[in-house]
Amino acid sequence: MSEQVERIKTLIIGSGPAGYTAAIYAARADLKPVMYTGMEPGGQLTTTTEVDNFPGYPEGIDGPTMMVQLQQQAERFGTEVRVGMVTAVDFSDEAGGIHKITVDDSKLIEAETVIISTGASAKYLNIPSEQRLRGGGVSACAVCDGFFYKGQEVAIVGGGDTAAEEASYLANICKKVTMLIRKDHMRASKAMQHRVNSLENIEVRYNTEVDEVLGDQVVEGLRMVNNKTGEKEDIAITGLFIAIGHKPNTDIFKGQLEMDETGYVITHGKSTKTNKPGVFASGDVQDKEYRQAVTAAGTGCMAALDAERYLATVESKETVAG
Ligand code: NDP
Repeated sequence: MSEQVERIKTLIIGSGPAGYTAAIYAARADLKPVMYTGMEPGGQLTTTTEVDNFPGYPEGIDGPTMMVQLQQQAERFGTEVRVGMVTAVDFSDEAGGIHKITVDDSKLIEAETVIISTGASAKYLNIPSEQRLRGGGVSACAVCDGFFYKGQEVAIVGGGDTAAEEASYLANICKKVTMLIRKDHMRASKAMQHRVNSLENIEVRYNTEVDEVLGDQVVEGLRMVNNKTGEKEDIAITGLFIAIGHKPNTDIFKGQLEMDETGYVITHGKSTKTNKPGVFASGDVQDKEYRQAVTAAGTGCMAALDAERYLATVESKETVAG
């Protein structure tokens, strides 16, 4: 471990829309932010193609380009963007306390404020044909990619609220939606189940799982298997949506921050404040409900404002005490 400890006013962990928006606001407020990008610089949007629902892009924009532009905007105001992975944290319990962060298991940083925007990762089935066709018709975000399957036949896997909501969304765009649920019932709320059942172009298949996604370069069909009878059936589809949940990227914060039972960081009230003074959370890492680039960006802005106000309060207390 290197001996040199760097002192930073505002450390941002994660480089999705939440992190970059926090960086833009923090840099403009002279908090001299330093960002560590993590393993997937740019976050989830770098794995999508066209982003058509972010306000301000009338022709749409592809995800990777948008993230490069966000980075350039953050850097224009002085954010220092570093490629690296935060591997350990030791958050202070005291207001005005210093937070200790380890990067790449070697570099030590002391930060007055920390903004966590490490995001969440969609879960996949992890079968070879699904992995091979990611980006070729297999997607984990109907709101992002559903439009590309307008008028076509698609399938969705999952029986929770996300799957039910996305199936309804797809049913409005697509000709037919086949919904695969591994149990004999849906986990989704009664209201969401009612919505799914009321839409004529959604066919719900219970006790059904994906056996194989068919197609070489792009999705051409789906081989389904009934997990009770073992019976297999092929259907022709062009898009497969996986909606079996997300995993927030919070492993390194376990035992340090308050989280809900599924590992999402809990923020207090309408703010981005966590249970540790000077530590804020924005974006999907604290939001399992909306999970959109624009909502993540909104909470990134809030986190920077919360950090700025926190530092101002701590500094004014130090001045009075001094
Ligand atoms: P959930 O964990 O609630 O549901 C995941 C679904 O995927 C379950 O039906 C589960 O099946 C299924 N599943 C998991 N793994 C596999 C697998 N390997 N193969 C096949 N199926 C699988 O996740 P959601 O993303 O739906 O929801 C997360 C949270 O967000 C929930 O608390 C939900 O209520 C909330 N939410 C609320 C919304 C709203 O109120 N508007 C909208 C979206 C989410 P099984 O049931 O068999 O375990």
